[in-house]
Amino acid sequence: MSSESPEGSVSNADRARDEQSVDERIANKDERVHILTGAVCNNNCVFCMEEDRDGRYITNSQTDDALVQHILAQKKGAEEVCFTSGEPTMNPRLPHWVRWAKEAGVRRVSVMTNGRSLSYEKYARTLMSAGMNRFYVSIHGHNEKLHDALTRTPESFTQTVAGLDVITKYKRYGVELHTSTVITKRNLPHMAEIYRFLRGHGVDQVVFNVMQANGRADTFFEHIFPRYTEIAEVARVFLEEAGRKESRVMAFLVDIPLCTTTALPDFNRGYVESYVHYEPIANAEKLVSKEALLSRRDGSEHREHVAVRRSDLDESARQKREACATCQHNASCEGVWGNYLKRYGWDEFVPVITGA
Ligand code: SF4
Repeated sequence: MSSESPEGSVSNADRARDEQSVDERIANKDERVHILTGAVCNNNCVFCMEEDRDGRYITNSQTDDALVQHILAQKKGAEEVCFTSGEPTMNPRLPHWVRWAKEAGVRRVSVMTNGRSLSYEKYARTLMSAGMNRFYVSIHGHNEKLHDALTRTPESFTQTVAGLDVITKYKRYGVELHTSTVITKRNLPHMAEIYRFLRGHGVDQVVFNVMQANGRADTFFEHIFPRYTEIAEVARVFLEEAGRKESRVMAFLVDIPLCTTTALPDFNRGYVESYVHYEPIANAEKLVSKEALLSRRDGSEHREHVAVRRSDLDESARQKREACATCQHNASCEGVWGNYLKRYGWDEFVPVITGA
């Protein structure tokens, strides 16, 4: 995703985005380094991918000073290090690790957070003065009723919005504020209102994330998961209307097969960054083949941890069919979640043929 510019101006990243197709942007994307930081979370989102709370606790509790130092040494020169998984701000070591990332020369130090801790301005300032310069805040509605029903956590909306407002105050120092809204059947009809609300609170980029059909999203699939084509149509109407009022609509639809979003302006077709994180070997064995694991044990592993890439997760849970080979997006497409196909089948996914 491109970085944002001051209101009304166009950043170089946005200009570059204008000049590239979504396939080119995907081909040129950087790999982000993820550090699994939060052993626990103070929200309880109905669509959370991390359904196995005990498993997450065990895995993320193993992230300690030594592992963070190891990752930063291995990934010297990384464009972005992002603290993520669980609620990273609940880990008291976070400010120290942010500082280490900055000292290691990482240009962009970020966090994926529900934003509630950021409402404590002193804490938010601690993170920013340590070097954090981009925030990805999860917010799933434009009012308390909608958001709190999805997070299943009373008063989470009030705190998250207060967190956004705190970060917005510091944007003049170069801090970037992005949000992530997970699309469900409940908030899909409110895409336009959510966008307007978040832009009104100073958000640079409003990302609408289509759910991954894993974890709780799989457990509650029938209640919360809209069809991709339905999401794409709501997004089309919203973007068309928003585009009449704003020359550059800073909303991006992410994690949805490109064959379902051909009617959207190319600028607003986003993608999920590639990332690498370190998992205990016992976890990695479930995702990566034995041969691949061996090739990664090149002396760079730390204790019992090994690098796992987003593509490892995709390969284990996403699918393509034969006709996908004819699609112009085949090279950039990560496929369709197997759990989605079990419910809705392949009918929606029609290969995009150049010149057809
Ligand atoms: S490769 Fe298949 S799933 Fe992916 S965009 Fe093309 S038709 Fe859709």
